[in-house]
Amino acid sequence: MNNIIIIRYAELYLKGKNRGFFEKLLMENIRKCLKGIDCKIMFGRSRYEVYDYTDEAEILFRLQKVFGIHSVSVAQKCRADIDEICKTVQQYYISGTFKVCTNRADKMYPLTSVEVSAKAGGAILEAHPKLKVDVHDPQTIINIDIREDGFAYIFKDKIACAGGMPVGSAGKGLLLLSGGLDSPVAGYMMAKRGLKLNAIHFHSYPYTSEKAKQKVIDLAEILSEYTGSIDLTCIPFTKIQEEIHKCCSSNYMITIVRRFMMRIAEKVAKLDNCGCLINGESLGQVASQTLQSITVTNDIVKTMPIFRPCIGMDKQEIIDIALKIKTYDTSILPYEDCCTVFLPDSPVTKPTIKRAEYEEKRLGDFDKLIAEAIDNREIIHIEKF
Ligand code: ATP
Ligand code: MG
Repeated sequence: MNNIIIIRYAELYLKGKNRGFFEKLLMENIRKCLKGIDCKIMFGRSRYEVYDYTDEAEILFRLQKVFGIHSVSVAQKCRADIDEICKTVQQYYISGTFKVCTNRADKMYPLTSVEVSAKAGGAILEAHPKLKVDVHDPQTIINIDIREDGFAYIFKDKIACAGGMPVGSAGKGLLLLSGGLDSPVAGYMMAKRGLKLNAIHFHSYPYTSEKAKQKVIDLAEILSEYTGSIDLTCIPFTKIQEEIHKCCSSNYMITIVRRFMMRIAEKVAKLDNCGCLINGESLGQVASQTLQSITVTNDIVKTMPIFRPCIGMDKQEIIDIALKIKTYDTSILPYEDCCTVFLPDSPVTKPTIKRAEYEEKRLGDFDKLIAEAIDNREIIHIEKF
């Protein structure tokens, strides 16, 4: 008798002809996430099995973070012979009330589902006479899954996993990753819909510290537990900010800074073969996230969509996800972001594209500044597992 882990996939069952593509990709992602752990993995009939392993806890921990997986169960596998099944269920630890549920994929099996459940339930009561059956509200459910391969799989719990689509199935996106709470959550949410992530971070050394950059690296590493490897591009942004500070009206500082971030991000996205940008904006959260502000920064990017999965979320909803995905504690560390450098007293909340363009004319030939910042970028490869 062997312990195995059953992996069930999430939304993939909705896929038609190209389901095979998603199943193969999920298999690759499962293999990558279990890299370095002694185990075997196989796929068959719409689910995956992990077997011949020792470190069950670590495997379960990692699988819960793989997008595309709906749930996992630790199961006992035995021959689909009713006596073997009965012997197996007798070994389960059960307290209080229980019920047995049987699912029979093998329709040629000589007993019906109800008959298998009744026999298995009887065997449990024989071994543990103090237990009681409760078919309506049992404390424990013992599931018996009789498959066409001649084996039965017996398990108690289904452990909920991350759901969503396999990372990479929807292409690749470039996440604008600051050290704050929102952008890691935004990256998580888009990876959940199948985007592979790269990230870009703007830093203003020496106005911002090495610690501020390290914080972003740490956040990318936490994200990579869900998304697989991330290439993080760090852009030296000081010179551009100093120029904007020198030449443009202070109440437009943030607006213009945002527009430059977008210009650079779009170019880096193309270099990295990313088909979209992702940021952590939430409507109305701060001056740079009013409808007018978003219109003025959005206007820069012409060749790809900008996804803003936090746009309709309250801060508390974003915090709840940050806590769940364990980015919260790092995000709240008090290191300054480049946006806090040269912060004006009263940033404009209703900027216009016309005025922003007028302000930018004062910068002269800023394409050179952009090219220089991109030339001096640093790319950090981040991979947790
Ligand atoms: P966050 O919590 O993600 O920092 P925020 O509430 O602080 O967001 P802003 O500072 O207005 O909001 O930033 C809005 C979005 O712009 C961020 O979510 C992020 O996607 C992007 N952004 C801001 N600063 C940077 C940076 N230094 N590098 C990369 N992206 C940034
Ligand atoms: Mg921020």
